[in-house]
Amino acid sequence: MIRQFELVDMVKAYDPDIDEMRLNRAYVFSMKAHGLQKRASGDPYFSHPLEVAGILTEMQLDCDTIVTALLHDTIEDTVATYEQIEELFGVDVAKMVDGVSKLSELEYTSETSKQAENFRKFLLAMSNDIRVLLVKLADRLHNMRTLHFIKKPEKRARISRETLDIYAPLAERIGMQELMNELEDLAFPHVYPEAYESIMKRLDYLYANTENIRDEVIKELEKIFSENFLEAEVVGRRKQPYSIWKKITYRNVSLENQADLFAFRVIVDDVEDCYKALGVIHNVWPAVPGLLKDYISMPKPNGYQSIHTVVIGPQRKRIEVQIRSTEMDVIAEKGVAAHWRYKNNASKKDGVHYQWLQDLLEILEHAADPEEFLEHTKIAMYQNQVFVLRQRESL
Ligand code: MN
Repeated sequence: MIRQFELVDMVKAYDPDIDEMRLNRAYVFSMKAHGLQKRASGDPYFSHPLEVAGILTEMQLDCDTIVTALLHDTIEDTVATYEQIEELFGVDVAKMVDGVSKLSELEYTSETSKQAENFRKFLLAMSNDIRVLLVKLADRLHNMRTLHFIKKPEKRARISRETLDIYAPLAERIGMQELMNELEDLAFPHVYPEAYESIMKRLDYLYANTENIRDEVIKELEKIFSENFLEAEVVGRRKQPYSIWKKITYRNVSLENQADLFAFRVIVDDVEDCYKALGVIHNVWPAVPGLLKDYISMPKPNGYQSIHTVVIGPQRKRIEVQIRSTEMDVIAEKGVAAHWRYKNNASKKDGVHYQWLQDLLEILEHAADPEEFLEHTKIAMYQNQVFVLRQRESL
């Protein structure tokens, strides 16, 4: 278990000016509040909020967020009250803890109209302060990492299903790719056990036969960049099983035809070098027509930037290459959480900037039947453009 001084050190490592006293107070408050409660693993319950706080320090989040993580289950699961937390830690933290609790209530109630109401409250809290979502996602991530301690397979499947339906799409919406990938891969085997088994077997076989191509591509790219005096880092990562499975299922692509068993990534210093790198690559390997996407000049709504291209590479194999700058790379992986690292910009916490969030709220305001609401939410989060839903409603 992370000890008190260790947590303080973890935060101090990226924010030397942190209010140590406040952090210590939250640590002790939560530890006392949870008392002798235990988790399914047999660990003291307090280890959970502590690990959630730990995940958020990896994202280098501010003191209020870390304090909220420590307290996030106290209103719901202990005798602690909103008023107490407001008095001890301020109104921002109290509101965030309350917002996080609203979504947990949703998980434990089966009454649809109440679920809808709680989800709406959660969205509102998020709209006031996007950090509510960051804490909730870190909370879910830790629960998924420790899911194997839950004995009943039906319960593991239900929680995993919820992760795929609600939390992974929310992570995607705020650009937290890395977190989304981990959530999906943790949930995948519990929701689709047979598909998981067969994909993993097939991937083992395919990777055993293509590992040499990865090395060849990396070597080749490094060579042409150095010949062109371009400083670039080249990585070739395996694609995650769940995203491969989604492509097979939803886009009807066979595993053998997927250009992207590996994701090759070229990371350079700045935007100018991104386009230079693209030119260098296309000069050596022919581009496959129609597959070049420039998300640098046209960023995705969640802020993602990169150039994607597919080329005919070594051994005449199609390979996908993503080109981006170092800063774009951090934003691509951490999304909204990266803003706390790059600028101390408090206004970034304002969820009002997220069009999809405003759209969702608006749909809820006008939804005739709250019982249909959760279905709507799922659909809305899977759509790239929420207006599809609006059109349907106006019919
Ligand atoms: Mn929790």
